[in-house]
Amino acid sequence: MRTILPLLAIALFVAGCTSAGIIPPQDTSLDPEPRTMHLSEMATELGWVYETGPQPYQFTMKSPKGDLVTFKTGSDIVIINSTRWRQERDSTENQYGNDLFLPESTFNFLCKRFGQHHLQRGPLRKSSVDLTPLTPDAPPSVPKAADGPLKGFTICVDAGHGGKDEGGSANGVIEKDIVLPASLRLRDLLAGAGATVIMTRTSDVYPELEDRCNMANAAKADLFVSVHANIAPNSDEVAGFEVFYKGGAQQSARLANAIVSAMDDATDSPNRGAKVDPRGLRVLEKTKMPAVLVELGFMSNAAEARRLATKSYQDKMADAMFAGITQYCTKGKATVSK
Ligand SMILES: [Zn+2]
Repeated sequence: MRTILPLLAIALFVAGCTSAGIIPPQDTSLDPEPRTMHLSEMATELGWVYETGPQPYQFTMKSPKGDLVTFKTGSDIVIINSTRWRQERDSTENQYGNDLFLPESTFNFLCKRFGQHHLQRGPLRKSSVDLTPLTPDAPPSVPKAADGPLKGFTICVDAGHGGKDEGGSANGVIEKDIVLPASLRLRDLLAGAGATVIMTRTSDVYPELEDRCNMANAAKADLFVSVHANIAPNSDEVAGFEVFYKGGAQQSARLANAIVSAMDDATDSPNRGAKVDPRGLRVLEKTKMPAVLVELGFMSNAAEARRLATKSYQDKMADAMFAGITQYCTKGKATVSK
């Protein structure tokens, strides 16, 4: 990653000479277009530094405290500390490829978010008051209840994919973004019932599969629940939830069945059942406790993708996973053998 501040200084100097530089503030009441700011100007105003990379067409801006904001040329997505937001319009690169033009509303949003209200440019246009969140911030965890039906159980919740690994995506829905909120809600429900919860991730990061298994094994978790969403490569008709377990693992099969049946109670979505994993999924092979991989639904089915993208359906599926896990833990003897 190469810092471009020296280049920037030259660019600004040249820009100053040619008057093609930073666009001056304009009268918003007369201007139907969103107002523009350079990334370099945003960084200077905020007292942050910016760099190109690490990926091609990527620009990052970093606060002295380590906050990280990432933009991509030609994209309206901005990632603020691993949370994705949609800008008013795309980021566009300048002619030198060393700076971005950004909507001024993005700057105002950053000022608000990082407590620098005094820097905000106003008056704000109606449409530019805020950016649209694409993934919610991780809610703070509900503290573990002292007592409850899951007291004494340690449960590892694995939100699939994350970070560089988007998982599947179809119909505008990205797997890593929908399994995280469902997993975080499951975490809170489990903790609220007295369980000790281990999360393999709580934000948009990618732990290796090996590391996810190690986390659960090291914590001697009683259960491992991996949360995913599905793609049917050759059909947009397939829909419904299903839960995989390792063949021959009886406790895992019992857990899978408990979750499937709770999901069946909670939704009208097709029930594809509890199934033996045909693929040798790493998280089911390398974990030493009863383990399941839940597929919440098919993003490749347009109607199901729409459902999966809503908080209410993510919540519903998390509630059902919780109900199934509770049923498994409290009915009959749960053992730590597979
Ligand atoms: Zn997946």
